[in-house]
Amino acid sequence: MRILLLSDIHSNLEALEACLGAAPACDVVVNLGDIVGYGASPNEVIERSRELGKIFVRGNHDKACSGSSNMLGFNPIAGMAVLWTRTMLRPQNLAWLRDLPAGPAHVDSLQEVQFVHGSPVDEDEYLLLMADAVHSFQATQPPVTFFGHTHIQGGFLAGQDDAATIRPVLHKGAPETETFVFSLDRKCRYLINPGSVGQPRDGDWRAAFAVFDSDAWKVTYYRVPYDVQQAAQRIVKAQLPGRLATRLIEGR
Ligand code: ZN
Repeated sequence: MRILLLSDIHSNLEALEACLGAAPACDVVVNLGDIVGYGASPNEVIERSRELGKIFVRGNHDKACSGSSNMLGFNPIAGMAVLWTRTMLRPQNLAWLRDLPAGPAHVDSLQEVQFVHGSPVDEDEYLLLMADAVHSFQATQPPVTFFGHTHIQGGFLAGQDDAATIRPVLHKGAPETETFVFSLDRKCRYLINPGSVGQPRDGDWRAAFAVFDSDAWKVTYYRVPYDVQQAAQRIVKAQLPGRLATRLIEGR
């Protein structure tokens, strides 16, 4: 089975369409949350995501924008984007967003793989450091967890007595689509982040996603150029905070 993994689209329609254009045919689409927040196309991105996906987990921005959580922990710029998004969402999209499930989610035929937004322990936890990852490895059973939330493509692996960080080897900001194939070892356990479609923060402005092949037991990480200028201009036009436009161009 081939699974298309999309995470942290954040209302960036230009980035989402570029990813879909570059992705191979897949059997199922899994959306790891933060569909909205920051970008200028919340309704369009929700509607496109609904067409594509069967499996979703909610992100902290999905909860805040739909009013099912408060904005505790949001910085002022993120908070302004939440308020803007709330006023823009069509009622049916707001209702759909509010009903998104918390992770972990599963694909029926693939119980050794789970999908979360933040971590297997806490949907709002950031897995940024090895220490965070070790806690998650200790607290969860499935050998493979896909997560988002940090907007950093890569992840962590745990072997018998060691652990390591996974970082795709790519040419940051190169003008073309790049892929990095990572074969998983059946003897190891993994926490894997496909990266953020709509607001990468790892210094590469290109949209990120991944494909998991459960037969070959391998992950292919993708980076895809998209019309970042247009996405940024529409953020400015929508009178969202200007920093949300410039950070797209920087990939930070
Ligand atoms: Zn996010």
